[in-house]
Amino acid sequence: MAVTYTYDDENIFAKILKGEIPCNEVYRDEYALAFHDIAPQAPTHILVIPTGKYVSIDDFGTNASAEEVTGFYKAVAKVAEQEGLTENGFRTIANTGDHGGQEVPHYHVHLLGGAKVGPMVMKAA
Ligand code: 5GP
Repeated sequence: MAVTYTYDDENIFAKILKGEIPCNEVYRDEYALAFHDIAPQAPTHILVIPTGKYVSIDDFGTNASAEEVTGFYKAVAKVAEQEGLTENGFRTIANTGDHGGQEVPHYHVHLLGGAKVGPMVMKAA
């Protein structure tokens, strides 16, 4: 079933993009902004977000232009390299919706590294 995506202009990452609240920025270009997660879950924990208004990875994949998609993932690669994650590896996570545990409704990729990051998914108790 096709989903209708409704973007909340007041979500916390929208405010970061608009410069209304600060972030610890590590990279910015036309397609992406990257900054340190406020509550890091690994020695290096960076969030990369598209500059366009997309709620989730499926919204982005469905509705973003080819240029935006390419630009965004080029930025992810640049950030990973710039932050020293590519040498020993890292994990990317894109939580989506309720079951995925997404808290902020602006598409973002977590980059986690700097040490082994543990099992991919915690088993429910
Ligand atoms: P999600 O659960 O949506 O995949 O991840 C949202 C992430 O955003 C969390 O890891 C959380 O720590 C981070 N976060 C929430 N609010 C802020 C903020 O104001 N600044 C920064 N830098 N990160 C935030």
